[in-house]
Amino acid sequence: MKREMHRILYCVLLASVLFLVAPGLAQVTDVKVYAFNAGILKIQTQLMLKDTRVGTPMNIPVPFLVIKHGKEWIAFDTGCSANAAKDPIGYWGEGIVKASTPVIEPDQEFQEAIKILGLKPSDFKAVVISHGHLDHAGAIDNFLGTSVPIYFQKAEMAAIRKIVDAQIAGTAYILGDFQHLNELNIREIEGPFDIFGDKSIIVFPTPGHTPGHQSLYVKFSAGEAIIYCADALYTLENMDKFIAPGLATDIPGAMLNINWFKLQDLTGTRIVPSHDPEYWAKHAWAPSELVP
Ligand SMILES: [Zn+2]
Repeated sequence: MKREMHRILYCVLLASVLFLVAPGLAQVTDVKVYAFNAGILKIQTQLMLKDTRVGTPMNIPVPFLVIKHGKEWIAFDTGCSANAAKDPIGYWGEGIVKASTPVIEPDQEFQEAIKILGLKPSDFKAVVISHGHLDHAGAIDNFLGTSVPIYFQKAEMAAIRKIVDAQIAGTAYILGDFQHLNELNIREIEGPFDIFGDKSIIVFPTPGHTPGHQSLYVKFSAGEAIIYCADALYTLENMDKFIAPGLATDIPGAMLNINWFKLQDLTGTRIVPSHDPEYWAKHAWAPSELVP
């Protein structure tokens, strides 16, 4: 009888400890980041690093991220359109291809590439686009026929609609990439957006490269955090040597972002650049997890 009482008491104690601990455990959702290389653009160095090593060739990777939050998936950027792989001059125009020549394998297009994680476009809870340029928003059509929300900052969507409405060709915003805008579930956000409401994955505006550019903060369950800057930071050299990007609609705005990234870097947040060949040579692509 005494033994039975002890057993009951033990069970009650264990239950109360679990009750106290469980809410804390429930708040920590496992977060995994996978980086994909959607191809290479052959450019000249001064496009990334203003007035630096002018005329020297630079082959830049085109990353996009896929992130697992608990059992849900989101994507940040999509890489280039498959049309750019098949017929770059016909799809992007000669001027763009001359300055930025794509080398894209068929399995590097978004919907082909994500198969390596067993995913298809309709599996995503959300897609966030840093900005509308050809190497970031190029494959949003992969989400046609799905109801997946595609998030842009309002200022970026305004810039895109201006170009689409006036049918302006020859810029880094490709008309073909946006021909189905009305059939996609486009959502416009203004300011920071906490995707899951638990402060683990937050997009926030970093205008400068384009009027409505946004970057991504990710906090891992172990506590460390990264910022994927997208084109608000082309390479770590831009940050470490305080070199302006060669291409930006607002250079002082772009430099403000770079200053702020440097502060975050100094205070413990890992900074992940977009088109940095040296950075990505040292970091594994999917299906390996990104270890910043
Ligand atoms: Zn861009």
